Amino acid sequence: MSRELSDHLKYFEEIGVDGISRDAKWRQRAAEPVAAFAQDIGADTLEAIRTEIGDDCRRCKLCTLGRSQIVFGVGNPKARLMFVGEAPGEEEDRRGEPFVGRAGQLLTKIIEAIGLTRDQVYIANVIKCRPPGNRNPEADEVESCEPFLFRQIDVIKPRVIVPLGKFAAQSLLKTMDPITRLRGRQFDYRGAALIPTFHPAYLLRNPSAKREVWEDMKKVRAILSSV
Ligand code: URA
Repeated sequence: MSRELSDHLKYFEEIGVDGISRDAKWRQRAAEPVAAFAQDIGADTLEAIRTEIGDDCRRCKLCTLGRSQIVFGVGNPKARLMFVGEAPGEEEDRRGEPFVGRAGQLLTKIIEAIGLTRDQVYIANVIKCRPPGNRNPEADEVESCEPFLFRQIDVIKPRVIVPLGKFAAQSLLKTMDPITRLRGRQFDYRGAALIPTFHPAYLLRNPSAKREVWEDMKKVRAILSSV
């Protein structure tokens, strides 16, 4: 199956379409519902997604494991550059905003290094609630939460998406390839160029890897200034 067809089917599955009818009468009536459906798609907004998640989301077990609030995302709803991290940490859980702890401060510097501000980009995570003790998110948690990230991406329609670190890159690309194989490459993803790079928390532990991140960010800057 082509990648495009498989993405398409996955999308329909995500929005609850679980089959098609072979009945000719059903097909003849298709025009009207399709138009209504297209309007529905057009109507999606970040506010609608946030409202749908709710303030007390119970879709996965993280609601019982000590998260204090949902960390939805922050920044320009029309951003051309979007960063995607893994999950909120302690500080993010406390403040309700992604990337505001030590790693976040480094991310802010990375953004500024290519001449942008946090307000000009959009920052979100694969999952919106803090896992206990900052453990990695588990498969069932990702499965319940990632449709909201996909919708955020589809509403914002960024030109470039930068997954930060192994977890975000692997989740978005649905691969188990290590970050060392994913970074340094460019992928087509939901209409954007996806450029994986190292997580800022990794850079805090391995400052020498900042050189590679800078290479990635120069690529990002070049794409943004080419269109
Ligand atoms: N690490 C992440 O992946 N996301 C955050 O929001 C903060 C730290």
